[in-house]
Amino acid sequence: MPEPESMDAHDLLALDRQHVWHPYGPMPGTDDPLVIESAAGVRLRTAEPVQGHTELVDGMSSWWSAIHGYNHPVLNEAARGQLDRMSHVMFGGLTHEPAVRLAKRLADLAPGDLEHVFLCDSGSVSVEVAAKMCLQYWRSLGRPAKQRLLTWRGGYHGDTWQPMSVCDPDGGMHDLWSGVLPRQVFADEPPAGFDAPLDEAYADHLRELIGRHAEELAAVIVEPVVQGAGGMRFHSPAYLKVLREACDAHDVLLVLDEIATGFGRTGELFAAGHAGVVPDVMCVGKALTGGYLTMAATLCTPRVADGISRGEVPVLAHGPTFMANPLAAAVAGASLDVLLQQDWRQEIKRIEAGLRDGLERARTIPGVRDVRVLGAIGVVQLDHPIDMTAATRAAVGEGVWLRPFRDLIYTMPPYITGDEDIARICAAVCAAAREG
Ligand SMILES: *Cc1c(COP(=O)(O)O)cnc(C)c1O
Repeated sequence: MPEPESMDAHDLLALDRQHVWHPYGPMPGTDDPLVIESAAGVRLRTAEPVQGHTELVDGMSSWWSAIHGYNHPVLNEAARGQLDRMSHVMFGGLTHEPAVRLAKRLADLAPGDLEHVFLCDSGSVSVEVAAKMCLQYWRSLGRPAKQRLLTWRGGYHGDTWQPMSVCDPDGGMHDLWSGVLPRQVFADEPPAGFDAPLDEAYADHLRELIGRHAEELAAVIVEPVVQGAGGMRFHSPAYLKVLREACDAHDVLLVLDEIATGFGRTGELFAAGHAGVVPDVMCVGKALTGGYLTMAATLCTPRVADGISRGEVPVLAHGPTFMANPLAAAVAGASLDVLLQQDWRQEIKRIEAGLRDGLERARTIPGVRDVRVLGAIGVVQLDHPIDMTAATRAAVGEGVWLRPFRDLIYTMPPYITGDEDIARICAAVCAAAREG
């Protein structure tokens, strides 16, 4: 068969604008996205030169997922091998080795006794499943009034309905829907700073709020240590212990959303590891498949699983069509192999040192309010909303792909990013801060 003729970038963009929704975009589209033709290692190859570059160093890991970079031989091989066996089969009444292996692997890696695994299609769905597990748990135990969630402000848990209800209610992406979404309980945002000492007044605020609403709370859900898309804020792991203790004292479940933080990003395999806290339910996604395919997982403890399974409706009534997709599960397994077969802690430390070094000079740029680094996450916060177009153009001018938002220019590079490329990313973050 003849190859379909490939479109030139101009035609492609015209059709893109006319037909294709982009994240958080209008229709028809207003900003032209860059056309990416291929990607390998830490480099995205553009279809046409942009500001003299045909390759951009990726500072985003494709929304924090491509931790091993692009076109990785081991992940490619896993995908190809599975493709030749089967891409997908339904998971109702059937099972397969990639899913079973992955679930066992996740159960082994996860903290404590999080040993039951629901494999689903995306991070948002894994949060939906987590919420359903918690609400159903209390319903099964004869306490149906416990159906609200508590979180702290400044969070992000996804774009579907339950996750939206626990995203930051002001200034977040979903404030349009207040009054329509389920009404959840919000604590103040956690005091800033990974190394900041525990603020007792804030800890009391958490305890008091959980105690006061205990009768109606099914669960507390938070992002541990790093609040990602809600504002790239870091907080002390000590608050996770406060939450764990208050949840135990008041019969409330604890859900940790590790979708952004899981698989080493913060310097621990899971961010809960900074506090030694074991949640009742944990969500992972994003980096799970090394950025290859869409898959997430909700893990829970035997207590939660038994509670649900002893109820009036003794099943978890959830089953996405593409649940436990074999192709994604096989690649996820390979991605975990690649991660664990290297000294990933050392790689994260190396990147952390490079980011600290390279972003330090951003402090002197006019308009920069804060510079913070944790693990393989580097953030420059301005004191005003960013001119996205100017900031992105400045980064691309340095040969780097960044995607700033609100007042934030940040990077979460792939773990394979070499020192020179980290320095280049830092230079681009500084350029974006200057122009944005
Ligand atoms: C990205 C993200 C989600 C949503 O995941 P999707 O795969 O985009 O649905 C949920 N929680 C956190 C913390 C995230 O970073």
